[in-house]
Amino acid sequence: MSIVAIVGRPNVGKSTLFNRLIERREAIVDAVSGVTRDRHYGKSDWNGKEFSVIDTGGYVLGSDDVFESEIDKQVELAIGEADAIIFMVEVESGITGMDQDVAKLLRKSRKPVLLAVNKVDSASRTNDALEFYNLGFDKYFTLSSINGSGTGDLLDELVKIL
Ligand code: GDP
Ligand code: MG
Repeated sequence: MSIVAIVGRPNVGKSTLFNRLIERREAIVDAVSGVTRDRHYGKSDWNGKEFSVIDTGGYVLGSDDVFESEIDKQVELAIGEADAIIFMVEVESGITGMDQDVAKLLRKSRKPVLLAVNKVDSASRTNDALEFYNLGFDKYFTLSSINGSGTGDLLDELVKIL
C-alpha cells in the first residue's frame, strides 16, 4: 500500500488534516518497521484507492516547541519512507524561514510533493496564498483542514500519483 506523509512546521494544521483523512478508519496502525513514536499512522482511501498516512512532528517534545533540526529529521524520514508527500504551510502567517528550509529539503528529494496551503477558510484568503509560489513548486492546493474545503482537489491529485 502506498504511503503518504504530511510534513511541515508546527501549527500549520498537519494533524487536523490527518484526523480528517482517517476519520473513516479508526485504527492507528504502526505496522511499518522502524516506526518511531513521534509519528502517527492511519489508513485512508479516496476514489477507491487505499493508502497509509503518516502525521509527522510535534510529538517528541510533546509541545509545539520543536527544534528546526527535529523538523528536518522528520522530513528526511518522510522522504525515505513515503511514496508521496503533502507539504503543508498556512496562509495566516505566510512563508516562514522554517517553510523555506523544509521546501529546500523536499526539492532535493525525488519524491512527488504536493504543496498544501492550509487555513484558507474563506474565499477572501485565496489571494493571500499567491505568495506560496515563491517556495518554488509548480503549483499549490488551497484548503481548510478545519472545514474541509479544498481537500477533495488535493486528494484527487494525490491518488493520481500513487
Ligand atoms: P500541526 O502542528 O501542524 O499538526 O497543526 P494542528 O493540526 O495541531 O493545528 C494547529 C492549529 O491550527 C490548531 O489550533 C488548529 O485548530 C488550527 N487549524 C488547523 N487547520 C486549520 C484550518 O484549516 N483553518 C484554521 N483557521 N485553523 C486551522
Ligand atoms: Mg500535529
